Amino acid sequence: MNKIKKSNDEWKALLDEKTFNITRQSATESPFTGKYLNEKSKGLYNCVCCGNELFSSNTKFESGTGWPSFFEPIKKDNVTEKIDHSHNMKRIEIICTKCDAHLGHLFNDGPKPTGLRYCLNSASLIFKKNDE
Ligand SMILES: [Zn+2]
Repeated sequence: MNKIKKSNDEWKALLDEKTFNITRQSATESPFTGKYLNEKSKGLYNCVCCGNELFSSNTKFESGTGWPSFFEPIKKDNVTEKIDHSHNMKRIEIICTKCDAHLGHLFNDGPKPTGLRYCLNSASLIFKKNDE
């Protein structure tokens, strides 16, 4: 995979403030505010920064947490897991493999078949609806 490398200033020029803060500064959007929380259409969720294909609507589920949640990425290689020690917690951060955008966190309390919960910020994603 070809990595995309840009400086913070370059990203700042491309993204709106909220998207920049979340994807490049690892901020978290407030729960129940994201635009994709209740999205039920069929399609693919891509990285808002670089278009990398991340998650399919087929793996989206209602977690009750207030953030869009998936139990599996489209391809394991498309997302990268990173240990995150911020806020005095040990969590697994999920980033886009292609451009290192912060996407959300990974938890092990998801549904079958994987038992995983990829907890994502809507602002890190761009949804491409399937053609009917
Ligand atoms: Zn990306």
